[in-house]
Amino acid sequence: MTEKMFEAVVIGSGFGGAINACRLSRKWPGHVRVLERGKRYPLGSFPRSPYDFARNIWNVPHENRSNFQEIADEEQHGIYDVRSFQNMDVVQGAGLGGTSLIYANVFLLPPDQVFAHPRWPETCRREHLGYYYDVAKSVLGSRPIPGYDSDDPETKPSDPRRRVLRTELFREVARKNNRESRLCDLNVFFGNDFDNPLPIGEQDENRFGALQTSCVYCGECMIGCNYQSKNTVDLNYLYVAEHVHKAEILTECLVEAIVPVDGDGQDDPAADGAHGYRVYHWDMSEIPLKDQNPEDRPYQDLPSTLTKRVIVSAGSLGTTELLMRCRDYLRSLPNISQRLGEYFSGNGDFLSFALRTEKRVGSTYGPVITQYTDYNLFKNPDPKRAFIVEDAAFPNIMAWMIEGIRPGFSRTVTILRALKDFARRFAGGRQAGRVGSSLRLVMGDAASDRTAILLNMGVDESDGRFKLGPNNRIRLDWPYRNSIALYRAIISSGAAFARRVWAGLFLPLLTWTWPFRRNITVHPLGGCILASEASEGVTNSERSRFGEVFGYKGLYVADGALVPSAVGSNPSATIAALSEMVAEGITEEKPTADL
Ligand SMILES: Cc1cc2nc3c(=O)[nH]c(=O)nc-3n(C[C@H](O)[C@H](O)[C@H](O)COP(=O)(O)OP(=O)(O)OC[C@H]3O[C@@H](n4cnc5c(N)ncnc54)[C@H](O)[C@@H]3O)c2cc1C
Ligand code: SF4
Repeated sequence: MTEKMFEAVVIGSGFGGAINACRLSRKWPGHVRVLERGKRYPLGSFPRSPYDFARNIWNVPHENRSNFQEIADEEQHGIYDVRSFQNMDVVQGAGLGGTSLIYANVFLLPPDQVFAHPRWPETCRREHLGYYYDVAKSVLGSRPIPGYDSDDPETKPSDPRRRVLRTELFREVARKNNRESRLCDLNVFFGNDFDNPLPIGEQDENRFGALQTSCVYCGECMIGCNYQSKNTVDLNYLYVAEHVHKAEILTECLVEAIVPVDGDGQDDPAADGAHGYRVYHWDMSEIPLKDQNPEDRPYQDLPSTLTKRVIVSAGSLGTTELLMRCRDYLRSLPNISQRLGEYFSGNGDFLSFALRTEKRVGSTYGPVITQYTDYNLFKNPDPKRAFIVEDAAFPNIMAWMIEGIRPGFSRTVTILRALKDFARRFAGGRQAGRVGSSLRLVMGDAASDRTAILLNMGVDESDGRFKLGPNNRIRLDWPYRNSIALYRAIISSGAAFARRVWAGLFLPLLTWTWPFRRNITVHPLGGCILASEASEGVTNSERSRFGEVFGYKGLYVADGALVPSAVGSNPSATIAALSEMVAEGITEEKPTADL
């Protein structure tokens, strides 16, 4: 039987992958295959118990991710893939829907000056991207939380269940500091009618047919929404790709190699892709990878897919690593530009905490981010110190952990008193016990409720560089000192925030303290940046070949790796817009919000 030649294989299913899976399968129904390393997460399947949560990490021994010997050999295909490099840790997602499964739903366009950076090609100016931002925004159903008015910081929702104290606090601080706070557009489902939100907890099909629940304000967005209230890409772009355009989606498939083929469909590393490619992957859906003898098994023995085109959407790190491995180790794509791996950015991410605030923050309630306060990113841009601060929520399970580990003699005394009271009641048959009141005393003022998390992002120098290290995995050189002015400005604004809310303690990210200087980002960008020629970037910025890897026909990148520099705002909107442009170049069809 002749081997099926697919029109396209999409590697990864985050923003870039989902968009391309949908657009390309619409053009070629039944002829597009998606290969995703993570699992599917249907309604209610995100882990919550301590047992399951502890295993909710990405750990494939072959990849040597874990520093801990005890779990290094334990294979887990969970959502959190945390990669540690010198001076920078990176958090990304693994699962059908990519990092959208654990992201904070914010859809925010960067300010104009970002596109004026010399590294942004002419075809990617703001005026060119505008249309694609609009399309993605419509598909993703972005809107602010209901009941508040972005222009009037005094507004409060009439339904008390829609009040988010954290939003109100951050807006109040912004006003006092003469800063502008705007409500974020959120990719969260509050019903299909924007003006009349569906009551909290009611379910309805979204306009693509997937079942969603009107957000219940549980604050668990970053551990996966068990109500399908987040508009993650598996509920729109991927949903339509699979259910309407018959894309074939394979999960727990980790792509290992991409090799061009000759006119007879045979692997030919010297070819330029004109005849297509073969994509090799590990199938881990039934047998763990560690039991498949990965060290000794050549990639040529793995399951493979023959395809005319390949869209690599494995995220900034995943895409850069896969292409680098193919260029430098497997030598299957030897002609990729020497710029591969350059211009990594952590998007200026920085995390800090204001503890023991005077007023309640209510940090466990509501969608995980609701507003941003501008510090010279949008207004009065400062090239070295342009950033925003967003309010972050954390899940209740973490709040219970904080309460559990909070030290204090008074608490021990209170617990003993509660136990004594309980024993008395049990032994003496007392009817009016004080157990309820004791619980109130044990919890006190709940430290977790008076903790504000400040999530900053801004325009860093975007000058990180990936190289292929031992085991053919990337390592990152992040010259943090070049972005130190930004980090200092962020820390100083955080300290000012803490003073405004009369916090007992202000803590910047602990791993940042000298001499460690380790930052953490959830917004990795760059590695395969767009440019007009191969001497400047890895992927073509010409509109008809947008995102195509220089030197290879039909091999595209569509994800955060394309982004030439930090955007300062949350980047998924920009990744989505650029990915729509990649798909348009391939299909020659202008995208609309009708999938
Ligand atoms: C906690 C958190 C909160 C965030 N909040 C926001 C926010 O509010 N707003 C915002 O704009 N951004 C946010 N982000 C960032 C945003 O989620 C990412 O920028 C975005 O998802 C990147 O999209 P992508 O297509 O580049 O890659 P991803 O979404 O990361 O998708 C890459 C996919 O490729 C798969 N993959 C990787 N390697 C392989 C391989 N070899 N074979 C097969 N599959 C592979 C991965 O499993 C993954 O599914 C957040 C991120 C995190 C972690
Ligand atoms: S607050 Fe809860 S219900 Fe709403 S989107 Fe986030 S996780 Fe889902």
